[in-house]
Amino acid sequence: FRPNDGPIPWWIVSKDRRVPGASALSHMALTRLLMGRASDTVADRIATSGLLWDRLLDPVLRAALNTAPAEGSAKLAAAVIRESLARGGRAARPRIAEPTLAAAFVDPALAWLAKRGCFLAAGRRLRAVRFAGDVIDSLDFGEGEVAVPPDEPVIFAVPPWVAATLVPGLTTPCEFRAIVNAHFAIAPPPGTPAMIGVIGGMAEWIFAFPDRISVTVSAADHLIDTDRAELAAGFWAEIAAIHDLPTDLPPWQIVKEKRATFAATPEQDARRPPAATRWRNLFLAGDWTRTGLPATIEGALRSGATAARLASAAAVV
Ligand SMILES: Cc1cc2nc3c(=O)[nH]c(=O)nc-3n(C[C@H](O)[C@H](O)[C@H](O)COP(=O)(O)OP(=O)(O)OC[C@H]3O[C@@H](n4cnc5c(N)ncnc54)[C@H](O)[C@@H]3O)c2cc1C
Repeated sequence: FRPNDGPIPWWIVSKDRRVPGASALSHMALTRLLMGRASDTVADRIATSGLLWDRLLDPVLRAALNTAPAEGSAKLAAAVIRESLARGGRAARPRIAEPTLAAAFVDPALAWLAKRGCFLAAGRRLRAVRFAGDVIDSLDFGEGEVAVPPDEPVIFAVPPWVAATLVPGLTTPCEFRAIVNAHFAIAPPPGTPAMIGVIGGMAEWIFAFPDRISVTVSAADHLIDTDRAELAAGFWAEIAAIHDLPTDLPPWQIVKEKRATFAATPEQDARRPPAATRWRNLFLAGDWTRTGLPATIEGALRSGATAARLASAAAVV
């Protein structure tokens, strides 16, 4: 599967470039996925079987939605396709944060803030808040109430289940899906691809980092109760076969994240609130707010930008 770089999708008519074994005509499903009602599931718009589904749409949409794609929101799936494959191959390349997520996203943001005299106090749990009229007027981090001046904007960038306890009457997504990761302490041989998608295996994506090989499984609720040692052995058997490595199990770590993201179904998508609240100095950010994208880093970043824009405008008023 090698989509051409530009937006005119001639890769579909090239047998060597389109999804192996799938006909050019079957790729029309990509267009059908883009049109319909907000309440549609992916299965309402396109066939959820066949080679295009098995080899491209199921694995890619499963990863993007972190939800079994047939029950996933077609609107969110379409947003992903519209912003990636529909813009051409150049917009559809996977990106891996180098050397770490913190170095790629968090450290530059903190440096940007520090340069402007703004420092972050992390590791403090917001326990309660108080509202007065149309403003939030105090925050409680467990060390007494901190007053919020009425012209001081506040952004809650907490998970939905925390926001729902802090903000009265807030509707948020309330169903979640798991992600399971496995890490194996072994340096991959030179030339190992940075990322491999596995069709029909237990490991969905295999990543090669300088010091380890990792596995990610999306919508992994079916694996949450599986014994960790069993998972490690199963994943390693697949990695060893795919990368031609010894079958002896290297040191491993399994990480199960039960509420990794909200379930990207039409029902849950409809529960996502906008960034603005009924309090004029309180805004919401997070991948679960109404970003138009599934729960992803991109969605989280955009939600932050939206909340910051609204907060800046509110501070000026
Ligand atoms: C295992 C896993 C793998 C993923 N892989 C990818 C991927 O490959 N690509 C991708 O795009 N996305 C991926 N995601 C999704 C991505 O990580 C999220 O979309 C993104 O991190 C969400 O950012 P956020 O700021 O909305 O929420 P979070 O990152 O969850 O931040 C919420 C913060 O609120 C804090 N908090 C909680 N309660 C309180 C409180 N009471 N007071 C103060 N703070 C509080 C938490 O400690 C946390 O730091 C993955 C997620 C998981 C779990």
